Amino acid sequence: MSTRASVVAIDGPAGTGKSTVARGLAQALGSRYLDTGAMYRVVTLAVLRAGIALEDTEAIGALAERVEVAVDSQPEGDRAFLGDEDVSREIRGDAVTRAVSAVSAVAAVRTRLVAVQQQLAAGGGVVVEGRDIGTVVLPDADVKIFLTASAETRARRRNDQNIAAGLGDDYAGVLADVLRRDELDSTRAVSPLRPADDAVIVDTGDMTQAQVIDHLRDLVEQHCGAIR
Ligand code: C5P
Repeated sequence: MSTRASVVAIDGPAGTGKSTVARGLAQALGSRYLDTGAMYRVVTLAVLRAGIALEDTEAIGALAERVEVAVDSQPEGDRAFLGDEDVSREIRGDAVTRAVSAVSAVAAVRTRLVAVQQQLAAGGGVVVEGRDIGTVVLPDADVKIFLTASAETRARRRNDQNIAAGLGDDYAGVLADVLRRDELDSTRAVSPLRPADDAVIVDTGDMTQAQVIDHLRDLVEQHCGAIR
């Protein structure tokens, strides 16, 4: 197994710096990158636009079977498409963020997206980021990483980002949202968020993102050999 061809699974809750780290690692390895959260967000946007109630799991499942979802596979890009439409900005908005946990808990949504993700990861040379990559999507991944940090650390980071983006300072509100999403993602019946038994758990609380990327690169090299 060469490092360039390796399949790396990165899971963990929101606010651990997962996306930045997964992209940075893909760049360092010369790999492709797959943001599975963006795919759940695109389906959620389609559900909201269709006016389907979040309780109507049957209608959500039926819609998930027919929507066309595409995401960039280069670590530098973060574009996402619903059909031909570029929805990269809209999927990061509040409405989608509030609804995505409910939509991603629907079994038929997961079945559809997991199949697409497995196809995209086939052939190797990819860093795949999500919540269930090491446990469900790619149980045979060469390296499995589970990023953690305390809820308070994650809320502080997100709140700092909001302040920098001019979205206001509301640490208590952000912490409540982090805890609510953790609870929904880790207690759902289908594919709850948890580390795979063979995942390496990395607490990012006291590390910069550059340090985390270096550490993960070392881990991949230990598992798959030095990058040449
Ligand atoms: O990674 P991101 O925060 O964009 O993911 C949005 C949501 O999508 C998560 O809160 C989770 O509910 C869902 N998700 C999931 N399984 C994945 C990736 C994301 O259920 N593999």
